[in-house]
Formats: sequence, structure tokens, C-alpha cells
Amino acid sequence: MKAPRFAYARPANVAEALALLDKHKDEARVLAGGQSLVPMMNFRVAAPKVLVDINRIAALTGIKVSKNHLRIGALTRQVELERSADIARHLPLIAAAMPHVAHPAIRNRGTFGGSCALGDPAAELPACALALGATFVVAGKKGERRIAAEDFFKGLYATALKPGELLVAAEFPLPKPSYASAFGELARRHGDYAMVGVAAHGSRKGGKFSDMRVAFFGVGDRPQRASGFEKALEGQSAVDGALARLDTDLAPRADLHASAAMKLHLAKVLAARVLRELAA
Ligand SMILES: Cc1cc2nc3c(=O)[nH]c(=O)nc-3n(C[C@H](O)[C@H](O)[C@H](O)COP(=O)(O)OP(=O)(O)OC[C@H]3O[C@@H](n4cnc5c(N)ncnc54)[C@H](O)[C@@H]3O)c2cc1C
Repeated sequence: MKAPRFAYARPANVAEALALLDKHKDEARVLAGGQSLVPMMNFRVAAPKVLVDINRIAALTGIKVSKNHLRIGALTRQVELERSADIARHLPLIAAAMPHVAHPAIRNRGTFGGSCALGDPAAELPACALALGATFVVAGKKGERRIAAEDFFKGLYATALKPGELLVAAEFPLPKPSYASAFGELARRHGDYAMVGVAAHGSRKGGKFSDMRVAFFGVGDRPQRASGFEKALEGQSAVDGALARLDTDLAPRADLHASAAMKLHLAKVLAARVLRELAA
């Protein structure tokens, strides 16, 4: 099937993009890598009247390291994250996640911001943003606002972005020296969205878990931290005693791939594996 008819605009900067989004309101959609939006339009799941193509806006691209944080521009291609020496050095969690995001051809065009703005509950990058305590930078008619990753993902394909707003970047605090991270997911085929996934980040000072942030994806309507599990890990040297807390932290729903009980089982297996890897 082909997409329904739409108008197309290619703004040169953020101000022009915001003016277009404000003018066309609910009828406009941002076009980034197009790897999710274009298939959705072809399947007629989405039918925007106006596409606002942000691909020429240089200010939205790139990875920058400053004193306290690493900033990823919304239009940064997923392949750039995969190959970046700065990401490998400062945010190895994202480097570990990237090979699991779709396939190379999709990562060549797909963007960091597109993945986060889409809000797919089984996507890798939103879970990494949550585990790493990222802050999203959003621009709108009234200026910029900052939204913590915890408050950004609102539900199934729903985020805190309001109509007329553009996701500009995300800022990640630079991890302190004793901090480590690990990533794992189970998918039916490599490159598919995860059946269940875990992104974990925290301190291992003195051989004990501390300040852990453990984000699960593919188990609910959005990426979510397991707060009881994180608390139970505090001060522990091993993961096993904390795993039972996932029974109350997570309430997975059955989907095409697995029953709810199977997802909970897989989440526990994966959490144990990922936390042991982090500890090592
Ligand atoms: C076969 C296949 C397999 C895939 N597997 C995976 C996978 O395993 N894991 C995974 O995470 N993803 C997967 N994807 C999705 C892929 O990663 C997409 O690239 C990503 O979800 C969307 O990024 P994009 O840049 O292509 O965004 P687009 O498709 O251009 O946009 C997606 C949505 O985000 C909005 N948007 C984009 N950028 C902004 C912005 N800056 N501000 C506000 N709104 C914005 C758009 O309006 C649209 O609603 C897969 C896709 C395909 C086709």
C-alpha cells in the first residue's frame, strides 16, 4: 500500500520547524529517519497531512562531551551511536545496546530522537536513557524545557512531547569511576524488537551493588525501572536474593511472543545474567 497524500516541508533550522509544527498542529508529524513513520504511513496506521522533515537541521545532530554530561542530538543516526568512540568510552551501555536495534540498514537512517519520540515499549534506547538517568531537551513555541527520562515515557507509543514540540537532544550525566553497566535482551531473531530486555547501570564500589538503576523493556507499556529490585540490591554482593522482588515490580502482559508468566520468568533470567555481568 502507499501512504495517503501529504504535504512536505523541509525547514532549515529549529525555529522554522517549530513554526511549521505550530501552524499545522495535530495535522503535522516530524520526519526523522522515517524508519518507523514511513512504514506506518504505508500501512495507513498514520496519516499526517504535513511531514516536517528535520533531516537538514544541523543543530539537531551530533554527540558532544562536556564537563558533566554527554549530549546526543535528536537527529544523530543510530549507526553514529554504534561507532562513536565517545559513546563507547562514556556510555558503554548504549554501545552494548546498539547492535540489538533493528538491522544495519535501518540504523543507517534511524535516529536517536526518532526512537525515543516513538516510545515503543520494546525499544532499546529509551530503556538505556532511563537506566542512565538522561534528561530530554524539548523545544516548543515557548522555549526549551527539560524532562527526566522517568517522566518522558508515558505509555504505549506515548511520551511527554506535546503537539508542536520537537525533541532536540538528550543529556546523559557522565558516569563516576566506580560505575558500570550491562545490557541484555531476548528476541526471537537478532534485530527484532525485544521480547524482554534489561539495561542496568550502577556502582560496584567495594564489590557491592549500590545506586543501581535497572530498566526493563518489552514487559509493559513503557520502559520501567524495577524499584524494589534496585533497593534489594543495595549493599549486596550477589544478585540472587533480590530477584524475587521482580514478582511485584513487574506486571508483564502477554503478547504475540510470550505469556505473562513466561515474560516474568525471562525477565528474572535476564536480570540475573546482566547483573552478574555488571558485577564482573
Ligand atoms: C524492520 C524493523 C525493525 C526494527 N527493529 C527495531 C528494534 O529492534 N529496536 C528499536 O528500538 N527500533 C527498531 N526499529 C525502529 C527503528 O529503530 C526506527 O529507526 C526508530 O524507531 C524511529 O527512528 P526514526 O529516526 O526512523 O524516526 P521516524 O520514523 O522518522 O519517526 C518516528 C516517530 O517519532 C517522531 N519523531 C522523530 N523525531 C522526532 C523529534 N526530533 N521530535 C519529535 N518527534 C520526533 C515522528 O514524528 C514519528 O512519530 C525497527 C524498524 C524496522 C522497520
